[in-house]
Amino acid sequence: MSDAILVLNAGSSSIKFLLYAEQDGALEAVARGQIEGLHTAPRFVARDRAGNAVGEKSWGEGVNLGHEGAVAHLAEFLGGLRGDHTLAAVGHRVVHGGLEYSAPVRIDEDVLEVLARFIPLAPLHQPHNLAPIRLLLGRRPELPQVACFDTAFHSTNPDIARRFALPREFHDAGVRRYGFHGLSYEYVASVLPGHDARAGAGKTVVCHLGNGSSLCALDGGKSVASTMGFTAVEGLPMGTRCGAIDPGVLLYLMDERGMNARAIEKLLYSQSGLLGVSGISSDMRRLLASDDPRAKLAVDLFLYRIRRELGSLAAALGGLDALVFTAGIGENSAAIRAGICRDAAWLGVQADPAANEKGGPRISTPASRVAAWVVPTNEELMIARHTRRVIAMERRA
Ligand code: AMP
Repeated sequence: MSDAILVLNAGSSSIKFLLYAEQDGALEAVARGQIEGLHTAPRFVARDRAGNAVGEKSWGEGVNLGHEGAVAHLAEFLGGLRGDHTLAAVGHRVVHGGLEYSAPVRIDEDVLEVLARFIPLAPLHQPHNLAPIRLLLGRRPELPQVACFDTAFHSTNPDIARRFALPREFHDAGVRRYGFHGLSYEYVASVLPGHDARAGAGKTVVCHLGNGSSLCALDGGKSVASTMGFTAVEGLPMGTRCGAIDPGVLLYLMDERGMNARAIEKLLYSQSGLLGVSGISSDMRRLLASDDPRAKLAVDLFLYRIRRELGSLAAALGGLDALVFTAGIGENSAAIRAGICRDAAWLGVQADPAANEKGGPRISTPASRVAAWVVPTNEELMIARHTRRVIAMERRA
């Protein structure tokens, strides 16, 4: 019998899972899958480590399974799948740890209550992240659960990087830059020294480019600045999020367009970014394949804003040793990587076109002063590692 750790990443309409088993001291992914369309047309699929489907189910159009039904189905499915493994703990991705949590934490009713207070800070993610935690606490109170936060990795940012130039009372009340995608950056920082010792110890900007996109400045593997802020809508344009915007635009929308907070939230989070600019799609692959000039404009704006933010983070670091690409676009799009490297030539980046087309891992020439790498992220493994560590510490205590 060996221990298994279940990792859950719950969103508004889907729950993704990964089951890890301890094997010779390492964590091996033995199954993964998701339930999508929780409130419209739920569909479950699970695959084993070889990628073979080991579970599939569709509930049909118009069925509202909700988080509760999805967790119940997952519990039943995993109960039959675990075989030789004992479920030791569940690790959850939780977007916001607020001021209280700068490291993963074992969840109990009190912790859950604190986490629920951060819902207004991440209204589109936090309530859904917490839903399965609450359900499992009710049904399986003896099962250890650990919350791992997207904000925690950025707790090493210096005070100056966390401040808005607002009156101090707002900062003290928690209105500050937190940063997100921390589990992804933490994973990349953990494997980077294995690729490039200089990058691991030096000044590196990691580009997490996916549906959500941000950049993070690492100094010696620690986050010192990032493009996301108080919320995950700040920084770069994303699939449907606008990124940085003049706050005066929001005042204009309220005063002149009569838009309330909910309407502005919808605009900024769901109707902007690549989708809003192109009017075609939020999906980078579709935009790159299109010859519509609106698609080209959206891609050009994405690259232009990365160019500017990269300069800003290199300035915050006081130099640059390496540039790293990760997540859906960063790992898979040679065209976007080529554009970013071209724009960063002034910083000393010289891409190797053949290595870039091949997907790396190193995509810069041997002569390039700044090394460029493709490093696939693995947020789920990071959560599993944290969960195992928290549980092991408890067992020792
Ligand atoms: P993620 O949120 O990390 O899953 O990333 C999703 C984004 O990656 C979407 O915009 C996809 O279109 C994009 N993506 C995935 N594969 C490719 C590819 N081969 N070329 C361009 N974009 C891609």
